[in-house]
Parts: sequence; C-alpha cells; structure tokens
Amino acid sequence: MANALKTLLINTLTSKLANNIGFKLANPFCSVFMLHRFAVDDQGIHGHDPALLKNTLEYLRKNKFNLLSAEQLSNYLIEGRPIPKRSVCFTLDDGFWDQAAVSAPIFAEYDCPATYFLTTRFLDDQCWMWDSKVEYLFDETPVEKLALLAQKYSINPQTPNFRSDLFNTLIAALKKCCEQDILATLASWAELVGTPIPQKAPAKYKAMSWDDANKLIKLGLKVGPHSVTHPIIANETEQDAQWQINQSWVELKAKIPEASPVFCYTVGRYGQDFGEREMAIVGNSELTSAYAADPGFVEAGKQDTITALKRYGYPADMLDFKQYATWLERAKDKLRGN
Ligand SMILES: [Zn+2]
Repeated sequence: MANALKTLLINTLTSKLANNIGFKLANPFCSVFMLHRFAVDDQGIHGHDPALLKNTLEYLRKNKFNLLSAEQLSNYLIEGRPIPKRSVCFTLDDGFWDQAAVSAPIFAEYDCPATYFLTTRFLDDQCWMWDSKVEYLFDETPVEKLALLAQKYSINPQTPNFRSDLFNTLIAALKKCCEQDILATLASWAELVGTPIPQKAPAKYKAMSWDDANKLIKLGLKVGPHSVTHPIIANETEQDAQWQINQSWVELKAKIPEASPVFCYTVGRYGQDFGEREMAIVGNSELTSAYAADPGFVEAGKQDTITALKRYGYPADMLDFKQYATWLERAKDKLRGN
C-alpha cells in the first residue's frame, strides 16, 4: 500500500502539468547521472538494466527535457549563462567494454550526448581496475580459501552475509591506500588464497577498445579523461596526482582529438578521494571543469563548484529516476536547506 501510494504521488507530481509548474518555480538546475557497468547475464556482470535506460530516455524525450553533455553543462556555468530548464546529463565512468556495447546504441537512438569518462591505460590494456581484481578473487577462489582472508580481517565465515561483508571490508581497506600499496596488498591476498591475479584483464573485466571509444564520437556521444590508471588520487603524492590528471588528458586527446576537456575524479568523494589539491590541479590545467561522485544538483550561478560538480548515482527504478530528474527532489533538497 505504501508503495502504491508513493507510485501514485510521484507520478502525479511529475506529470506534465505539475512539471510545468514545478520547473517554473525552481532555479535552473541540472541533474547529472553517474552510471557504471551494464548487466550482461551470460558474463555474470551485474549492473544497470538496459531496458530501464531506454524507458528513462523515452520519458525524457516525451517530456521535452534538454539532454546536455558534461561539457555543455559546465560551459553554461563557466559562461554564466542560465542552464535551460528541464536539463539532464548522463555520464559513465571507467570505460568498461559493456558501456560501449550495451549503452552506446541506446544513448545514440535517443540522441543523448552521454559522456564516457575513460581511464586511458585501462583502454590501452596496460592495467585493470583494482576493485575488479577483488571481484576476480571472489569469482575464482573456493569459499574455504576465502575463509583465510576472512580470518585475517576478523570476519566470521559462518555468518550468512560472509561474502558481502568480506568484499566490502577488502574494498574499504584498499580505498585507504596509494596505488603501489593497493597492488602489493592485492598480491598478498592472491598469494594467501592461492589465486593468481592475471596481468591482463580477463574478458569480463576488460575495457572498451580505442576503436570502440572512437565509435562513441561517431555516434554523437562524448568522452572525457578519468585518470591514467584509476588510483584514488587523494592518496597519491602531489606529483603523481598531477600526472594522473594531466597525463590522462594528454593521452585521451592523442587518441581522440574531439575529447571533452572535462575531468572526472576516480571514486569521487570530496574530502576522501579528491580534495582542494586535486581541484587546484584541474583549475590550473587545460581542463575546464571536473565531476565528482557526491550527490547533488548542478546549479546555475555556482561557478565556484566548477571543479567538483555533483552527480547522482543512476537509480534502479523509474520512480526514483523521475524524482531525481525533475524539480521534485530539488524541492526536497531546498527544504532540507541545501
Ligand atoms: Zn572510476
């Protein structure tokens, strides 16, 4: 009953008439959505449902939303122009193969200039994501061997949520480390459980190719830099942080001259994964702006946030999506005093 009521309420409040009134009341703003991997059942990849993406784009087109690229949106702020009402922006992090294979044709069908933030040496097949390596250890290691890791982190292998508890603990431990320590720690875990981690990414965890990335541009989609090797940039030395940000732009531009000069921080939480130091590096570079992973709207007249633009995680259902895409969540945000 509570769910049925919520459905009715959101559908009524985000109906055409209510949207027209709501958008007139709200200051110009844009909801930026952050997407990661797409569900590919036969490869065991969990992720966004392509059917939901189609439905959301159908809704946005029907209701005459403006679909902006990450660069277009930051240009509105830089140039001090008002963001068009009913604006929505889609961004995808990392550069996994399924993002090109599954989502690109859908974004192209709806003429939505989604921005793919690419980790350059991941696309070069010179490295793969450290959190994928933890997943790989879980894929390949028998449960009794995983118990050895659990023991090391004082997790009881008998509890029902053992696997997810252990996974979350390992990811949290790595998030505190610099890249060198992440790789050393992963190697020690691999040795402990007897599952060697391959140098090259296995099929499930591969990046798209540079050819795929160039095809995104031909489809009217956009690409931007997302570091060279995907460390947590705040955990690196200043020199390495500069290199991760500036070199990824150099490498991306060399492969794709049409790339957008818009950076996206890895992991992306302000004060943890990046901070004032990284924002200053972006500010002093050729890059015009940068996106974070902290939830919130991008608002006109807030140029000071140009190197830490907020995004919402892409919701798992249509109702939540409507709330975040329209004035409804914005109104709630204002009521909370943000
Ligand atoms: Zn990332």
